[in-house]
Amino acid sequence: MSQPNVYRLNSKEVSKATEQWLMKRGVNKEQIGQLVMLLQKDYFPELTLAECVLNVESVLSKREVQNAVLTGIQLDMLAEEGKLLPPLQDMISYDEGLYGCDEILALSIVNVYGSIGFTNFGYIDKLKPGVLKKLNDKNSGEIHTFLDDIVGAIAAAASSRIAHRKQAEREAVEEALQEGAK
Ligand SMILES: [Mg+2]
Repeated sequence: MSQPNVYRLNSKEVSKATEQWLMKRGVNKEQIGQLVMLLQKDYFPELTLAECVLNVESVLSKREVQNAVLTGIQLDMLAEEGKLLPPLQDMISYDEGLYGCDEILALSIVNVYGSIGFTNFGYIDKLKPGVLKKLNDKNSGEIHTFLDDIVGAIAAAASSRIAHRKQAEREAVEEALQEGAK
């Protein structure tokens, strides 16, 4: 007999919902890829946008990341609908400077890829380029208090992933050369 009350997680649905909700809230993977490009192009001049987008996709495939995206977007939407409890409603609506839970939630994304991610996250949060500028527009009528940090964190995490992988590639090439010289 089936047990109707047993909760079963459907990972594919979580992943699909993450992508769909990002799109519905005005963010696509190319825009996040462009942020990655901005963060990494000075270090890796041969880096392409397609490579950046692939790394964004890889970050987005992690459950910790999907959880943060869905939670943040949900809180932004509840704030837009005026459904949060006071005084939280106003703190999130006005993106109150001393309310830091948006950054903390985003750090759960950066955490997955180590310390380079932290530096990039802080940098891009100050600069607010590209899609982050749009998300931060306080005159749009939309609230993206959580999503702006989350998008910055995804870009920072993808940058960190690229940095680690490129270093590993360089080392592999150097090792092969040394082996060849023996
Ligand atoms: Mg924020």
